[in-house]
Amino acid sequence: MRILVTGGAGFIGSAVVRRAVAMGHAVVNLDALTYAANPANLAEVAASPLYAFEQADIRDRVALDRIFRDHRPDAVMHLAAESHVDRSIDGPAAFVETNVTGTFHLLEAARAHWLREGRPPGFRFHHISTDEVFGSLGPEGRFTEETRYDPRSPYSASKAASDHLVRAWGETYGLPVLVTNCSNNYGPYHFPEKLVPVTILNALHGRPIPVYGTGENVRDWLYVEDHAEALLLVLERGAVGRTYAIGGESEARNIDLVRMICSIMDEMHPAGAPHDRLITFVPDRPGHDLRYAIDPSRIRAELGWRPSVTLQEGLRRTVRWYLDREDWWRPLLGRDGWGGGWGPGHED
Ligand code: NAD
Repeated sequence: MRILVTGGAGFIGSAVVRRAVAMGHAVVNLDALTYAANPANLAEVAASPLYAFEQADIRDRVALDRIFRDHRPDAVMHLAAESHVDRSIDGPAAFVETNVTGTFHLLEAARAHWLREGRPPGFRFHHISTDEVFGSLGPEGRFTEETRYDPRSPYSASKAASDHLVRAWGETYGLPVLVTNCSNNYGPYHFPEKLVPVTILNALHGRPIPVYGTGENVRDWLYVEDHAEALLLVLERGAVGRTYAIGGESEARNIDLVRMICSIMDEMHPAGAPHDRLITFVPDRPGHDLRYAIDPSRIRAELGWRPSVTLQEGLRRTVRWYLDREDWWRPLLGRDGWGGGWGPGHED
């Protein structure tokens, strides 16, 4: 298959690109290279004849049309987005422009391509979204594909809007669409503005580990390589028009997740132990959803997918990776987006 991946230089997109190339698919990575992108995430595929890169913005319809004509993809996996909740509070405009308007332009360019090619039955437009569109849970219950939308941050509202656009293009124009809504990812190549890498790197440097509020917020964590596997499975075997909720069935309160990372650091980097002495509670941010959790019954029953690693094992692999890959994270210190700062890393 020839897959056009948008946002392939980001955290999850690069995991998808690496996996797709390893599976033998041809991949065209379309990415604007915003602050969140890192071409170093793709070092292992950069020289592959199966890999091509197009620097373009999904808001640029002319560029999109040219890329569809040049590469004639069999499928689109749409991951390009502004993805950081804290940034969406400080500057929501970019979230509406990329996540809503950009998705609209991509859908239109994909539809024009699909019509030009004579509506190939195997064509797929796979939109990658988040469980944050469903709002916040109380202590009980889990999100399913049927949960009512209730987004509460500019980020989740913009992703919700993009989900609606994709489904509308499926219903109205017959574009063969798939939507996935996934829980929080963690793992290698995670930009160090997010909770897991911030915790690891601050622990490594003996800096305070900031935790929002009292750390009670619960997230359902999924190892990024497991998400990439699920996404390629949905692309190949998912039913057209269907939505799949993807989650790790690994719920943890933020404070417990941070403590797990600290104890792994104690073992792998004993010099700074005990690292949990660095935990510092900081004022919560507005509208911080209490709990997200996914019921992944559908993808498990229909496609036989389940996560390959537990949260403990995935965190061990992640800590090991950051300890081994200073070459990857060192150049990001002082770059826009992290600013050499050591502020709170949001989990979403
Ligand atoms: P990321 O911020 O790491 O990467 C986003 C990528 O999109 C970057 O490479 C960036 O350069 C690119 N991009 C941004 N704006 C663009 C534009 N206008 N045109 C072209 N490229 C642009 O994000 P991520 O964490 O890898 O998330 C990828 C997708 O998965 C997003 O759609 C996000 O909503 C979704 N998602 C993320 C999580 C998570 O835990 N990170 C969970 C569920 C769903």
